[in-house]
Amino acid sequence: MRIILLGPPGSGKGTQANFIADQYSIPTISTGEILRTAVKCNSKLGNQIKKIMDAGKLVTEEIVISLVKRRLSQADCYTGFLLDGFPRTIFQAHAMKVLDIKVDHILEFQVPDKLIIARLSGRQIHERSGRIYHTQFYPPKTPGQDDITGEPLVMRNDDHKETVYQRLTEYHKRTAPLIKYYAAETLMNNTKYHQLDGTLHMTILKKIISNLLG
Ligand code: ADP
Repeated sequence: MRIILLGPPGSGKGTQANFIADQYSIPTISTGEILRTAVKCNSKLGNQIKKIMDAGKLVTEEIVISLVKRRLSQADCYTGFLLDGFPRTIFQAHAMKVLDIKVDHILEFQVPDKLIIARLSGRQIHERSGRIYHTQFYPPKTPGQDDITGEPLVMRNDDHKETVYQRLTEYHKRTAPLIKYYAAETLMNNTKYHQLDGTLHMTILKKIISNLLG
């Protein structure tokens, strides 16, 4: 099963990615996660990437495409994969086509900007596992601590208000055009395109997605 998750920041892609990857035993390839790992290396490239991410802008096409290409060539992707956050521009979608990377399903999450801002401003992450909480909508059992390990939760650097606005602007300008692009593309091949109401509760969405993917 090869899947693309498409949608604005904070639309629930990461949360559903964890569920889907578990259910179908496929690896999640999150470009955001790969880039955050690159930033931690503290290299010159890592520092350049950090500046772009902290500003809420998109990282250079060449960097992202080569990271994804390398990751997809690893053995665990042979039977399937889930792409979370890639492609994010028409250029990246073209690159996938040129590399002949085919997908079975595209899941588009729809959430209004107002809710996204509320979601991201309260989002907390358990860094090691990728588990995602929200101070109001999905609080951990103990405030500030991961339910399973008890380790501290953190807020992402780019979840601060100003950066969230910039990320949303980038989304509408550069990623949203992919919706029309894929609507047309999927008519010509076997890929199935699904639109989802990302405002629904995560457990309901999980059921809907399970039904769609079969
Ligand atoms: P979100 O979907 O919540 O914005 P991600 O973790 O997917 O979070 O991405 C965080 C940041 O990583 C983005 O704001 C951008 O700077 C960078 N990034 C992730 N994926 C891509 C991509 N495909 N192309 C360019 N930049 C990307």
